[in-house]
Amino acid sequence: DRAVYVFKKGDSAGGKEMKQLLGGKGANLCEMARLGLRVPPGFTITTKVCQEFYKAGGKLPDRVWNDILAAVAEVEAAYGAKFADPQNPLLFSVRSGAAVSMPGMMDTVLNLGLNDEVVEGLARVRGDRFAFDCYRRLLDMFGDVVLGIEHKQFEAEMHAVKEARGIKLDVELTGPDLREVVRRFKAVFAAAGKSLPDDPLEQLRLSINAVFGSWNTPRAVKYREINRIRGLLGTAVNVQSMVYGNLNDNSGTGVCFTRNPATGEKKLYGEYLPNAQGEDVVAGIRTPLDVQHMADNFAVAYEDLVANTNLLEKHMRDMQDCEFTVQDGVLFMLQTRNGKRTGPAALQVAVAMASEGMVSREEAVLMVEPRHLDQLLHPMFKGVGKAEYTSAVLGKGLPASPGAAVGRVVFSAEDAEKWDKDGEQVILVRLETSPEDVGGMHAAQGILTARGGMTSHAAVVARGWGKPCVCGIDKLEVDYAARTATLGGKLINEGDYVSVNGTSGEVLLGRQPVQAPEMSGSLAVFMEWVDSFRKIGVWTNADTPEDAAMARKNGAQGIGLVRTEHMFFATPERIAAVRRMIAVEELLEEGTGSAADALAALKEFQREDFEGIFTAMDGLPVTIRLLDPPLHEFLPHEGTPELDSLCDTLAVEMKGRAGQHMSAVKILKSRIHGLQEANPMLGLRGCRLGIRHPDITEMQATAILEAAVNVSKRGVQALPHIMVPLVGFEEELAHQVRVIRSAAEAVFSSAGSSVDYKVGTMIEVPRGALRAGDLAKHADFFSFGTNDLTQMTCGFSRDDAEAKFLPLYVAQGILPADPFEELDTSGVGELIQLAADRGRATRPDLHLGICGEHGGDPKSIEFVAGIVDYVSCSPLRVPIARLAAAQAAI
Ligand code: ADP
Ligand code: MG
Ligand code: MG
Repeated sequence: DRAVYVFKKGDSAGGKEMKQLLGGKGANLCEMARLGLRVPPGFTITTKVCQEFYKAGGKLPDRVWNDILAAVAEVEAAYGAKFADPQNPLLFSVRSGAAVSMPGMMDTVLNLGLNDEVVEGLARVRGDRFAFDCYRRLLDMFGDVVLGIEHKQFEAEMHAVKEARGIKLDVELTGPDLREVVRRFKAVFAAAGKSLPDDPLEQLRLSINAVFGSWNTPRAVKYREINRIRGLLGTAVNVQSMVYGNLNDNSGTGVCFTRNPATGEKKLYGEYLPNAQGEDVVAGIRTPLDVQHMADNFAVAYEDLVANTNLLEKHMRDMQDCEFTVQDGVLFMLQTRNGKRTGPAALQVAVAMASEGMVSREEAVLMVEPRHLDQLLHPMFKGVGKAEYTSAVLGKGLPASPGAAVGRVVFSAEDAEKWDKDGEQVILVRLETSPEDVGGMHAAQGILTARGGMTSHAAVVARGWGKPCVCGIDKLEVDYAARTATLGGKLINEGDYVSVNGTSGEVLLGRQPVQAPEMSGSLAVFMEWVDSFRKIGVWTNADTPEDAAMARKNGAQGIGLVRTEHMFFATPERIAAVRRMIAVEELLEEGTGSAADALAALKEFQREDFEGIFTAMDGLPVTIRLLDPPLHEFLPHEGTPELDSLCDTLAVEMKGRAGQHMSAVKILKSRIHGLQEANPMLGLRGCRLGIRHPDITEMQATAILEAAVNVSKRGVQALPHIMVPLVGFEEELAHQVRVIRSAAEAVFSSAGSSVDYKVGTMIEVPRGALRAGDLAKHADFFSFGTNDLTQMTCGFSRDDAEAKFLPLYVAQGILPADPFEELDTSGVGELIQLAADRGRATRPDLHLGICGEHGGDPKSIEFVAGIVDYVSCSPLRVPIARLAAAQAAI
């Protein structure tokens, strides 16, 4: 059980497969050394030692210190000089590095081992300017990261000396200037009551302790919490002999990527700075040069860099992000890791590397993250992050639905539809949205809301359509009456242009330029590879023929969920028909109006819709869910003029029995009030509605099957799957199946022809999951409705939990993630597994799918891929689900 791993050119016991133990930086330093690259010799102290350090109450165990001393001796031998030897000193850098890169931790200390005596020795060999440049850097970094003296105090002294000398750049400081800087830095130490230990080994010990100590600072703990980094042992510490980019003009330091991280182009990409050390490149003190320019002034080092980075890329089998230093014309490699990249770059790199034979197709598929694909599939703003863009940002909310949208602000769904008809592009701005707003939401280019979370109505609907949406913008104030809003101190009037970045959650003033998604050839090639590995189907949730066609283009193999009620809002005539149906069923006395008429009108609309969807999905299964939400959702809100006029119309039909018109209106209003439920999510909805009103179920089944028969006469292959929602009891399902089957017989006998159809149920009530063995007797298929299943299993109201306590739960680590976004695999997941097992025990050929929001979430897909036959998600997420399913199978 080794505490320390030495690395030197051509030799190391460590390697890239040991990231847990050596951290990412240490493991790859060992690997580069092993490969024979010129890496300054050094050693890595393991993450296990970090644990021991904490167990011992913040102390390095003696055994480890002895191992460190032995490693120092080994490095001295490899480097050919002694640590802090005044004649010819070897100096060290001390670098942190966990298995996951973590900006919450300690910074690097460079040039460790200098003191007043050693610096004079170094000056004799290398000159004052260089020696005291190293010394002032050590004092600054050691003071800052080990002793906690603020960096800006040192910066102020540097500034004062430069000012006094009338110079701008650090590199212009002469030897005497730097001696003066060092004198002033020591005064800063003295004022803080601290000092740099004279003993170099004491400097080393304190620096190592500081790195281990930084693992548990509040800042680091918070960072891990926010980024959900768990299961790490701690940080490793890398102690490495120094090489000097600040030695002279034939030296320098830089960073580079083996390919362009924005586009994926295969060409060394990066920057370097001559006569500089450490973070000077990124600190913006001087403007760095394009790494390609090194070919002119550092020809040998550049050739080396090209050869090394090519080798590293081949060896690591991924695009690399490297740090290097040139000392007197000689290149040293200081770090390598897999480079972070944009969506377009990820795709380009994966396809190119597989084509070059550098990686297998499996590896290429694993190299593209679902979020990369997401970026590729939505239009994006140009120049994100550039000054022109940033200065237009008004505020930020939750990135509820990705993409870029530009349009003129309107404050009601009605106006959105009106302006849209007049050819305007609009952004709908609301405090929140409700099902009544869907027409306007559909007409809008993008949606902004002040309230609501990632699963609020606005967010779910917008994602379903792939429409950019930012919700939960706390600072957004809306005055509906004045038709104005304020955000970021700006007044926004109706008709003003705004831009919505649903990918980042930003809201911008004016019309920001947009670029279309690039559906390049590589994407098609890549998706072909993806499909060759995946073992489960990917279906889609679509409510219209247009959505169905788009999903099909994206590779959907069926529809897993048609929400019939979403069609109800498409036009004013439809809403009127739905309201008439509700009136007949729930509001009017029996014998008034004509139930058959109201349902027949609606059936026409539905049949037409289904014909369109079956045609778009020719040859693929279409799963249609019977009416699910509570009826009052379809009625106008109480106290609105719409409600008054609805009651007026209905009262005419009622009057015969109820007498006076006015009293009929009154009775209706009180009945509508009576439809309200304290807990509608657990109320009269789903199959309960179909059992209370079997004629609605019958109407819907008839519309579906008539549509299927009609289109098949035109040569279209319709495969209807009729799905009963919210079933918890076997008898509920049996009841609805009887209604559906008898409707089918009626349709087929009157048409004189029939189609194959299936009847199944959603599993979304925990009792239904438990009794899945019974339900399977009546169902050809199950579809897990994981939104409701999560809500009812956890007992979390979807509509309230997000605003009230879920973010707190996640922040405090009570829950690892929002269970409405990422499936709660241990709880809800267990129910899914259990229901699948029990259902299949009854009926081995039972077909299983999942159609909640989780059907498009990569982590959730990874879990359910071992259980279900397909996942179903919104049309734009289909490619992402295909990728996630493939990655789950590799
Ligand atoms: P970070 O994790 O913040 O990138 P590093 O440990 O990589 O921190 O150190 C930052 C920089 O310090 C490196 O990029 C390099 O320029 C410089 N550095 C670190 N160790 C050495 C060394 N042994 N010799 C020369 N420069 C070094
Ligand atoms: Mg680094
Ligand atoms: Mg449901």
